[in-house]
Amino acid sequence: MRKAGKVVAAMLEATREAIRPGITTFELDRVAREVIERFGARSNFLGYNGFPAVICTSKNSTIVHGIPARSVRLEEGDIVSIDAGAIVEGYHGDAAITVGVGEVSRTASRLMEVTEESLFAGIDQMVAGNHLHDIGRAVETVAKRAGLGVIRDYVGHGIGTEMHEAPNVPNFWPGRPGPVLRASEVYAVEPMLTLGGEDTVVLSDGWSVVTADGTWAAHFEHTIAITEDGPEIFTK
Ligand code: MG
Repeated sequence: MRKAGKVVAAMLEATREAIRPGITTFELDRVAREVIERFGARSNFLGYNGFPAVICTSKNSTIVHGIPARSVRLEEGDIVSIDAGAIVEGYHGDAAITVGVGEVSRTASRLMEVTEESLFAGIDQMVAGNHLHDIGRAVETVAKRAGLGVIRDYVGHGIGTEMHEAPNVPNFWPGRPGPVLRASEVYAVEPMLTLGGEDTVVLSDGWSVVTADGTWAAHFEHTIAITEDGPEIFTK
């Protein structure tokens, strides 16, 4: 899983470097494909329920699962979430970042900063003996303090020989502590925060998830193992 995580991190780094005003999300997918091929890894996104790309590209009010397309061109001031995954020797990695295109507004950059901060607050809770939902409680605390919405319809997950394994990892306190966390467990934690509400709509392409109120959203994700020495981020 460390190996898969390294490929995913390299995909995100190459994509981040390629992001500039005028580039299409289709071109970003090509950049990520080159990285997968260079490492000799396989994509867990491509063909997943028919998904046509190796990354998801979600712009502005799109929260997750945006499909890379020649018709989607990034413009100065946009933000775009890149979700990437890879398989090495049968094990999966999964991570996401949100990146500003050129110069972005103060509000957009704060949305991205707080979302990443909420991810790391969640990761800090990934200590053997804590409970699963300590993660979501920490994410939600950071988000609410900043006045941001927390998406509840899409959540993190266990990960291993499958991309999505039980249990779900909500980004909020679901009213109970959940199972005790143990060393050697691996989770994908992925807060999605908005500048407004928490309701979501799936577009007619069957994939793109947008905010119901049209406000912008950010998404950060890592694949993280719980070890005897605390959390280890595989997708760093
Ligand atoms: Mg994920």
